[in-house]
Amino acid sequence: MKGGYFYGLCKSAQISKMTMRKNTKLFLHLKKWLEKAVLDYSMIAEGDRVLIGVSGGADSYALLDLLDSQMIFVPRFSFVAVNIDMGFDKEFVAYRELEKYFQEHQYPHVMEKTDIGLLSHSDFNRKNPCFLCSRLRRKRIFEIADEKGCNKIAFAHHRDDIIETLLINMFYGREISTMMPNQSIFGGKLHIIRPFAYLREELIKKFSRERQFPMVKNACPSSENSKRIFVKQLLNDLQRHNPDIRQNIFKAMSHVKPDYLPGLPKK
Ligand code: SF4
Repeated sequence: MKGGYFYGLCKSAQISKMTMRKNTKLFLHLKKWLEKAVLDYSMIAEGDRVLIGVSGGADSYALLDLLDSQMIFVPRFSFVAVNIDMGFDKEFVAYRELEKYFQEHQYPHVMEKTDIGLLSHSDFNRKNPCFLCSRLRRKRIFEIADEKGCNKIAFAHHRDDIIETLLINMFYGREISTMMPNQSIFGGKLHIIRPFAYLREELIKKFSRERQFPMVKNACPSSENSKRIFVKQLLNDLQRHNPDIRQNIFKAMSHVKPDYLPGLPKK
């Protein structure tokens, strides 16, 4: 069993794992930017124990793979992977696939079967399944982090997720906010970190195809018609007119000029 880069693995296992993986140009590019984001936002400190959320989608497999690589500047840490099954698939195909992957790679992991997805789509909650779903899933992840002694939780949200969330919160929530690369919660007892904060979604997807992760399709009935899909399509349309639009929006979040925002009326 291991956690962090190669903690606890015997030498031959380390070598076989290293040779199995190809450090392609894309891998090195993603790792470089992941490390930069981790350092820029002080996401990981020496001795941290990180719970890594793995849904079975491309992004989360990529996060686990990259965080399990030898890094130059990021301090040593240990990790546990976690998957919360939402209960959509009665055959548990994705669940079993993921469990096999964790075992084959000797990743310490926690897998939990829940009915969070079904509950969130029940008659009493038809209007906003995502809200309840995210809330319940997150609550359980916090509990598991506590049970496993983790002080950080890593999610695979990338640069495009951060941009889309900004727009979703403006369009539907009437506020200017988004996901933070490093967010302190419970008075600093726990941190949510997003090591992919600088990474573009299309490159992560490309990397996932390159690595041939056993990805599973999201079985959630709301996954195809969410506000996020709408905003993503809108950005794709805008990008045809301005190829830099996503990068510009991301950069704009670091150039906020409160003096040029109306804010609240004085009276
Ligand atoms: S799309 Fe489905 S799985 Fe994702 S948050 Fe919404 S309800 Fe939950």
